[in-house]
Amino acid sequence: MKSLNPLDFYNVRDQLSEDEQLVQDTVARFVDDKLLPIIGECFEAGRFPKELIPEFAELGLLGSSIEGYDCAGLNSVAYGLICQELERADSGIRSFVSVQSSLCMYPIYTYGSEEQKQRWLPPMARGEKIGCFGLTEPHGGSDPSNMKTVAKKKGSDWVLNGAKMWITNGSIADIAVVWAQTDEGIRGFLVEKGMKGFDAPEVHHKMSLRASVTSALYFDDVLIPAANVLPGVTGLKGPLSCLTQARYGITWGAIGAAQACLQEVLAYTAERNLFGKPVAHTQAAQLRMADMARRITCAQLLSLQLGRLKDAGKLHPSQVSMAKWNNVRMALDIARDARDLLGGAGITLEHVPIRHALNLESVITYEGTETVHQLVIGKELTGVSAF
Ligand SMILES: Cc1cc2nc3c(=O)[nH]c(=O)nc-3n(C[C@H](O)[C@H](O)[C@H](O)COP(=O)(O)OP(=O)(O)OC[C@H]3O[C@@H](n4cnc5c(N)ncnc54)[C@H](O)[C@@H]3O)c2cc1C
Repeated sequence: MKSLNPLDFYNVRDQLSEDEQLVQDTVARFVDDKLLPIIGECFEAGRFPKELIPEFAELGLLGSSIEGYDCAGLNSVAYGLICQELERADSGIRSFVSVQSSLCMYPIYTYGSEEQKQRWLPPMARGEKIGCFGLTEPHGGSDPSNMKTVAKKKGSDWVLNGAKMWITNGSIADIAVVWAQTDEGIRGFLVEKGMKGFDAPEVHHKMSLRASVTSALYFDDVLIPAANVLPGVTGLKGPLSCLTQARYGITWGAIGAAQACLQEVLAYTAERNLFGKPVAHTQAAQLRMADMARRITCAQLLSLQLGRLKDAGKLHPSQVSMAKWNNVRMALDIARDARDLLGGAGITLEHVPIRHALNLESVITYEGTETVHQLVIGKELTGVSAF
């Protein structure tokens, strides 16, 4: 019998359409040629490789699920595969694409006016304009209903005051989708770089997602024209629906990070001789690697089914919560265990597990912490909110 692919034990690839396989192969080549050679240095230097944005755009990775407006119009499984391949390189790179596509372009596409769509989506798809998404506030991201950022009507315009924290792409963004309390409920505002009273300083000294830009956003009497309010949504449903899109991509991305760790461990333990034999020939190492393959396989099947449900319009947000919880926990555990199987060498950036483990410490926290997703599922099961 032909031996199995350790990174695709159940041959999930076989379930993909030709178009989906093509997307995966194209992004995989880009990752191998352009990202993997530089990503360790970027992480060490705390640098997001901005110079690659035109290539992300060229490959159709920005707003890939959107129809029209110069976007690729791919299905959800293809978007998932993009996330998986990018995060095989680094969670920070996948975060950039997730935020641009699911957290900034998606709300403009779904809730924006035709004028807002025409103005922002084509240049965002071309990578000429960068976006970010401001929901989390300094006093507690898990409870967005306790939002302090506020917009007050001034004639037909608005005046925005408040602060957002931990905002991916914040300092490099040309446009921020900012969620604020109003007399009508929570609304989305398009805040443009350079608007008077708006500042987006970068957060430094991060030990995680170092190849990604993270910022605070401050609003001090920022005048927002009426044309910059998203007309199509009021209430928490707006930001939460965007998060469902982005979390869906994260479930796939985490698989890529875990695959990169397993691949490295398989290669390393095959060569590392201890007590007269390769570490890979010991029962303890094989048990650990078998467990990694088992957990990656379960995650792959979960995300594929999630993608098919999403494309059929049958996705439930609690299903995304389960996959985000399962897949990110899986990847974080695998990255930590892979780091250990590499011994002392595992603490250097010569090998990928420590970088993935550090990154995944953010991924397990952002877009809903593990606890938050567990409570979402608890509520779905019991009908009672325990938040
Ligand atoms: C690198 C990075 C990038 C990010 N990018 C963005 C972005 O682009 N846009 C954006 O809006 N946000 C972003 N975030 C913010 C992220 O979504 C929040 O950090 C996250 O939602 C958690 O909020 P918090 O950090 O305030 O923690 P808190 O909400 O203060 O949570 C602290 C702890 O309390 C736990 N907890 C919360 N509720 C309960 C409960 N009911 N019962 C028991 N325990 C509970 C949590 O699980 C957590 O362990 C980013 C975060 C990071 C680290």
